[in-house]
Amino acid sequence: MMIPDTALHLLRTIYQGQSAGYLTLTAIHPSKRLPTPSRHIAITDQAAVHQALDDLIIANAQGWGAYFSIALRKHPLARWKRGGQSDLLVLPALFADLDGDLTTSFEHIQAAGRAGMPAASAMVGSGRGLHLYWFITPTTDFHTAHRVLAGLAQQLGGDVTTPTNALRLPGSQNTKPDVNRPCQLLWLAEHRRYTLADFRAFEVESPPQQQATVPSRWRAPPTLPNQLNPDLVEVVVRVLMRDYAGFVQRNGWIGSLCPCGHTRDQPGRHFGFSPLHGVGRCFGRHGQILLKELCTLIGVDPTHYGGLYLKRSQ
Ligand SMILES: [Zn+2]
Repeated sequence: MMIPDTALHLLRTIYQGQSAGYLTLTAIHPSKRLPTPSRHIAITDQAAVHQALDDLIIANAQGWGAYFSIALRKHPLARWKRGGQSDLLVLPALFADLDGDLTTSFEHIQAAGRAGMPAASAMVGSGRGLHLYWFITPTTDFHTAHRVLAGLAQQLGGDVTTPTNALRLPGSQNTKPDVNRPCQLLWLAEHRRYTLADFRAFEVESPPQQQATVPSRWRAPPTLPNQLNPDLVEVVVRVLMRDYAGFVQRNGWIGSLCPCGHTRDQPGRHFGFSPLHGVGRCFGRHGQILLKELCTLIGVDPTHYGGLYLKRSQ
């Protein structure tokens, strides 16, 4: 399988000069209820990056969507993790994801340009919409970057994105059944490089998903139906909050990114976990996710925490 030149070109331009960190590549199945595997490859290991891209393109040919996370991770994470903000090492590009019709998107882009938004460094046709990239001096200020990404999305009428997000790899096929078109690099202007500070005017005060209050600690209720193990439930809550951008919703559920993976997801948009019932629910296509299954998806081994069920004392 050949790695498309355009994919390599974009990745080389984004990550040039990076001497540390891990590139996260993810395969997301468009229709079936399948977990979302990722690989985290040292950006300095060119052979390993090429091998992983090759594998991703093979998965893409078998129908899986091919994604890369723009920010490099600090460590190689587990196969089922894409990582939260605390796992990020550096963000080398800002980006926007415009899913609307192309005419409206181009109108938004023109209006944003007149409002002083720096011209994009690259544009990708995702198969349905547009992805814009702005190459920046790699930043570790994820807090500001998060607010700038929210501002760019707001100005451009795009989806809300965060520094942890992944975008479809150009040169791959958009395998969504209702799309099934190539994701293509439309153009790339290598010399257009910026700093995060160039985008200060587009920073919004509080990005949507930070409005939720996130308590530092959450305790499992003392009794659970079916004698589910409260220690395990607590671990699941902690992992959802740490690795899947989870937060406690008003109804007591933990809203987070869906561990099964969606092309477009925001914490709580599709997925919630009820600590009271010890069960997860995806309001997208994944439906009910039982505690046991959820543990597998998020890489928690119940046996390390006393098992799925409370041990009966004799
Ligand atoms: Zn889901």
